[in-house]
Amino acid sequence: MSNARKDEISRALNDVRYKIPGHVTLIVVTKTFPVSDLKYLYELGERNFGENRDGEGSEKAESLAEDLADDIVWHFQGGIQSNKLRSIVSWSDYIHSLDDLDHATKISNAALSLNKKQNCFIQVNLDSTPAGANTEPHSNRSGINIDNLPIFAGALAELGGVKVVGVMGVGPLHHDPRPSFELLHSASQELQKVFPTATFISAGMSGDFEIAIECGATHVRIGSSILGSR
Ligand SMILES: *Cc1c(COP(=O)(O)O)cnc(C)c1O
Repeated sequence: MSNARKDEISRALNDVRYKIPGHVTLIVVTKTFPVSDLKYLYELGERNFGENRDGEGSEKAESLAEDLADDIVWHFQGGIQSNKLRSIVSWSDYIHSLDDLDHATKISNAALSLNKKQNCFIQVNLDSTPAGANTEPHSNRSGINIDNLPIFAGALAELGGVKVVGVMGVGPLHHDPRPSFELLHSASQELQKVFPTATFISAGMSGDFEIAIECGATHVRIGSSILGSR
C-alpha cells in the first residue's frame, strides 16, 4: 500500500540528510506533528526527536515506547516551566534550554531521585552579537549571556544529577546568523575550560542549519524542512 505522507516525509528527509555531514546529529523537531509522523520517521531510520512542551513530549514518548523498540533519544528544547521539570526529566534524554540555576537544581534533584544523570545543554543568548544588538524584532531573550557562562557552568559542576554536554543557541530570524553561531562557538570554547568533555553545539534550524554546521554545530534541530509548516 502506498503511503503519501510517508513518501513526502521520506523525500524531504533525504534532501536534509544530504546536507548534513556524518558527524552531525540530526534532531527532527516533531512538535505539533502527530505520533504517526514520528513512526514514519522511525521507520526511515531517525532516532532523535525534539519537542518543546512537556505534555506533548511525554505523551509521544509513552506512546512510542509501547509500539516501538525503546531506542528513541528524546530532546526537550522548549521554554522551561519549573513545575514541569520533574516530568521533563522523566522522559527526556537531553534538555537543550537550561539557562537558570534554580531550574538546574530542580533538574539535578529530579534526576537523582530517578537514578539518572540528566544531559543538559546550556542555552546561550545570541542576541548580543553586533549584528543582533537591538535589531531583532522577535528577540529571543532566552539563554544566559556568554559573559556569565563560566560562573554558571561552575555552579552546575556542583550538581550531581546534571551532566553538561555543551551549548545551545537559537540564531536570529531576520539577519545573517553567522556572527551568532560564531559567538556560540566561542561560548563552547569557554565551556570546555570548565567541562572538557562538553563539546556539543546544538545550533541550526530549518532556515540556517547549513551555516550553523559551518560554524561547528554538532546537533541540528530541524522541523519544518522535513515535516512541513506548522
Ligand atoms: C521549533 C524549533 C526548532 C525547529 O524549527 P524549524 O524552523 O521548524 O526547523 C528548532 N529549535 C527550537 C528551539 C525550536 O523551538
